[in-house]
This record gives sequence, C-alpha cells and structure tokens, in this order.
Amino acid sequence: MYKLLDGNTISKELIESYKKQISLLKDNNKHIVLSDVIVGCDDASKIYIENKKKKFNDLGIIFNEISLSKDITENELLLKIEELNGDNNVNGIFLELPLPNNINESKIVEKINPNKDVDGFNKINLGKLLQGDNGLFPCTALGIIELLKRYNIIIEGKNCVVVGRSNIVGKPVALMMLKENATVTICHSKTTNLKEICNNADILIVATGKAKSIDDSYVKDGAVVVDVGIHKIVNDGKSTICGDVDFDKVAPKTSYITPVPGGVGPMTIAMLIKNSINTLNYE
Ligand code: NDP
Repeated sequence: MYKLLDGNTISKELIESYKKQISLLKDNNKHIVLSDVIVGCDDASKIYIENKKKKFNDLGIIFNEISLSKDITENELLLKIEELNGDNNVNGIFLELPLPNNINESKIVEKINPNKDVDGFNKINLGKLLQGDNGLFPCTALGIIELLKRYNIIIEGKNCVVVGRSNIVGKPVALMMLKENATVTICHSKTTNLKEICNNADILIVATGKAKSIDDSYVKDGAVVVDVGIHKIVNDGKSTICGDVDFDKVAPKTSYITPVPGGVGPMTIAMLIKNSINTLNYE
C-alpha cells in the first residue's frame, strides 16, 4: 500500500516554525520587508495577491504591493527594480509573472539583486546552485527535496529521473538531487526512450506541464513519485484538479506519491517563506 507525501501537513509544520523564527527576529528588531512587483493587475490576480499579502502579513512579514500600469515600458520597469535593489529597507523582491509582451521577462529577472531574489530565478543564484554554493534557489525544487527528507526517503545512491528541464523546476531539482548524491537523469519532450528510463527510477519527479502525461506503464514497482504539475480540468461543467501524473493508475505501484493538490504546491509556498527569511543572511 502506498503512502502519501503530504505537502499540506509538512508545509503547515514548517510555516509554524518559520513564524516562530520571524517573531524571534522581530524581538531583535529585524524585520523582513518584501516588495511584490505587479504589472497590470486584473481582478483574478488581485484576489491572488491579496491572499498572498494576508499570508505574509499573518506571519509578521511586511508585504508591499508595487502596482504598476500595464502600459509601463521595459526601461521604466528596470528603473523601478533598480530603485528597489537600492532600497536598504527592502529585503526581498517578487516579480509577478507573466509580464506584458512588450517587456523582456528575463531582462527584468536578471535585474533583481540576487540577494533579494526570493523566487530564486536569477542567473547568479542558478549559477550558485550549479556550483553547490549557498544562495536563494527556486522554491518548488527546494520544496520537493524538503518533502522527501521529511519522509526520510533515502536519496543518496538512488536512481532519480526528472521529467522536464525548465529553468524553474526541472533543472534546479535535478541539480539538488545530484547534490544529495542521487544518480540523476533528466528527460524532456525529445527523449526517445522515456518509458524505459522512467522505469529505472527509484525516485521519479514529473514536471511536464501536461495533465496525466505519466501513467503506470512508466513507473516501476515501489518507486517514489513526485508530481509537480497542477491542472484544472473542466468536464461537463464539472471541474477537477489533477497533476502531470495519472494518480489513480500510478499510485498503487508506488511506495510514496504526492497528491495533487496538497503535495508539491504547499511546499513551494513554505519555501517562499524560507527564502524570504534567508534574505536577511544577505543584508
Ligand atoms: P514547462 O512547460 O516550462 O516545462 C515542461 C518540461 O516538460 C519541458 O522541459 C518539456 O520538454 C517537458 N515535457 C513536456 N511534455 C513532455 C512529455 N510528453 N514527455 C517528456 N517531457 C515533456 O513547465 P514548468 O517546468 O514550468 O512546470 C511544470 C509543471 O509544474 C506544470 O504542470 C506547472 O503547472 C507545474 N508547476 C507547479 C508548481 C507548484 O508549486 N506545484 C510550481 C511551478 C510549476 P522540452 O524542454 O523539450 O520542451
């Protein structure tokens, strides 16, 4: 019988410990101030950002929204980031993505001071990850490692297959698994023998961005499966949430598997808070 890697419970435990850490920091007059840069906010994003703000405020983190017009030019946005970089009262900067089409997203991400880069997407931080140095790293990948460790899953010496090679999930998690001494294989849409490779995985991490793209024929008996994907599927007016893995088919073959929702997603949020606290190390 498989066990769930319960990201909801672990995330709650972690956030509770971060809350205590933040409160102790405050007692020592150390405050965490985050700036959330939002370009052209629609109603749906407003709700999302309000929720995010409430979550951070409840933890004792000061969260400032920097709402900018959708008509802002790339240059004006670069100047705004420069201003936040230079503001000693700001510890961390988020950039709400995607940006309007006239703005080069990676140019803006690269402008963020790596020491304030709470999302961990800046090339300097990714370079540090590659070299095994300390830095602020992508939260979803951090969350996956933390979840595996919390369940005492042995990573060292295991065959780990990561399906997906994006800069924000696939590549960082592969590097982190390598650092934990797994033998790592990275697959992508041009991999020809995907099924065969996945069937060799002790730990299979799936981040394809394609709903239910991995079924039981890709999974060996007793494997640990981490499903990064999250999709809303509407069928006959009824909506359901699923991942990149076909949970119902895959779960019975596994020893541990993440549910969707309630697996990797909440861990990402917990790691965002952890990165926010860690910005104080770089003041
Ligand atoms: P991207 O679309 O950027 O990358 C998807 C990767 O999967 C690409 O490398 C692509 O290959 C590969 N791929 C696509 N289809 C296949 C296939 N059939 N077989 C093998 N490889 C394939 O996605 P992200 O990395 O940004 O996100 C991945 C998933 O994780 C998404 O479902 C997203 O919603 C979710 N996500 C969840 C988060 C959370 O907190 N839970 C946070 C971030 C993302 P190629 O490079 O060749 O195109």
